[in-house]
Amino acid sequence: MDNNFLKLKQILKYNNFPAFGICNYSNISKTFDVRSRNLIPYNTHSVIVFAFPYYVGDFPNRNLSRYAIVQDYHIIVKNLLKKLSSLLTIVFESFSFVPFSDNSPFPEVEIAVKSGLGFVGLNHLLITEKYGSFIFIGEIATDMPLPQTPSLNKTCLKCMACIKKCPGKAIFKDKINMDSCLSHITQKKGVVSIQEKTLIKQNKLIWGCDVCQDVCPHNKNIPLTYIEDFKTDIIPFLSFNNIDILVKTRAFGFRGPSVLKRNHGILYDK
Ligand code: SF4
Ligand code: SF4
Repeated sequence: MDNNFLKLKQILKYNNFPAFGICNYSNISKTFDVRSRNLIPYNTHSVIVFAFPYYVGDFPNRNLSRYAIVQDYHIIVKNLLKKLSSLLTIVFESFSFVPFSDNSPFPEVEIAVKSGLGFVGLNHLLITEKYGSFIFIGEIATDMPLPQTPSLNKTCLKCMACIKKCPGKAIFKDKINMDSCLSHITQKKGVVSIQEKTLIKQNKLIWGCDVCQDVCPHNKNIPLTYIEDFKTDIIPFLSFNNIDILVKTRAFGFRGPSVLKRNHGILYDK
């Protein structure tokens, strides 16, 4: 087996990056026209794709989606990948390693599937065998030649629970209808309709919707995350008075406080 690949595997194991796959750059169908596209190294050969699990257990009084109760993944994943890229640049000194964690130029789910990191469920989410779908995705692009890791060639259990239980009836074979997806509704700016308010009240979350993940059998009995930064400073309940502070440090911060305050009002005002 390729020496660099073996060395890389050892480094990832030693530094606690257990969930990864490698996708040859030539196997990627497209890149997106985003600012970070300019950072893809010249002569990129491979993209190392990572899954970062964030499941931290159940909190009965939670009023935020699971991914939003942990520290902002944009920052945590970025830091983990930046550190790892620096290390790889030292070890494999003649090659470049560039991390991507936010606004990625790569079709992340596509490359995760092609590299065997997981498979896509009927809920359109990437599902990993060990950590289910409660994961964030990040990548490192490199000009170091690495072997493509094989896809899993698997499908989800097709139990249909996500489709049946989806509060917005938003899951279709070929897409999620964003207009009726509750997660999307909690994020949209401006006025929400009476039906949308009813959905928010029924689901009892100020931000997001976890239903299509919570009902999925692939998310049963998954381990808690091993990532220390996700295990510390968990805030499952967002009070009105905390919104202005927490928008500075949490994943929902990009939307600003007014949308969260509006949703809080829908949920708790009489
Ligand atoms: S996030 Fe909620 S509303 Fe959106 S598709 Fe999943 S279950 Fe449906
Ligand atoms: S809930 Fe069932 S149908 Fe939906 S993704 Fe999971 S296994 Fe597939």
